[in-house]
Amino acid sequence: MKVKVVTRILEANDRIAEENMRRFREAGVYVVNLMGAPGAGKTTLLERTILGLKGSLRIGVIEGDIAGTDDAERINNTGVPVVQINTGGACHLDANMISEVLPDLPLSELDILVIENVGNLVCPAEFRVGEDVKVMLLSVTEGHDKPLKYPLMFRESSVMILNKIDLLKHLDVDMNKIKRDALSLNPSMKIFEVSGKTGEGIDRWTEWLKGQRSQ
Ligand code: MG
Ligand code: ZN
Repeated sequence: MKVKVVTRILEANDRIAEENMRRFREAGVYVVNLMGAPGAGKTTLLERTILGLKGSLRIGVIEGDIAGTDDAERINNTGVPVVQINTGGACHLDANMISEVLPDLPLSELDILVIENVGNLVCPAEFRVGEDVKVMLLSVTEGHDKPLKYPLMFRESSVMILNKIDLLKHLDVDMNKIKRDALSLNPSMKIFEVSGKTGEGIDRWTEWLKGQRSQ
């Protein structure tokens, strides 16, 4: 019985996600669903991405958090349009939450919309929100066991960004194992290695984003 209920919830979600996608296409905006665990560095990556795209692409952001507005305030300080969603306890964003805030964003004036999902490696991977691409951020500090422990996230994401590579020298983490296991789950996965702190590697990611936008 429980399985049936979950299936129906996901089907209803997919219908709203398709409607969101239609609205994004109409507005000509490319949408990134950015996922990752709490503390992986999603908001810092976003700040770097906004800086890297300045002058070439117009970006907007939806911040998803269980509570609080810290992340939206950080994005607001960069000067781009941002809307905060507080899920009030839910550990992922769904298509309906996104649909409700779309009127608060100048969609037709944007080239890229990044949706920062709630920090969680599990259920965000199950809920489409109408995105063009799912991007997951994994900090190398999270350890090299994550792909095999959270396979759905790695299967669903077209892109994996490995963050905090500046810390590798202090860690007993095998980054090659992370990449090997992620690719075994998802052979076409695109992988970037970055440091949100130093900015290393961010340009390759922003160049890739620009390329996606112009396709
Ligand atoms: Mg954040
Ligand atoms: Zn959840």
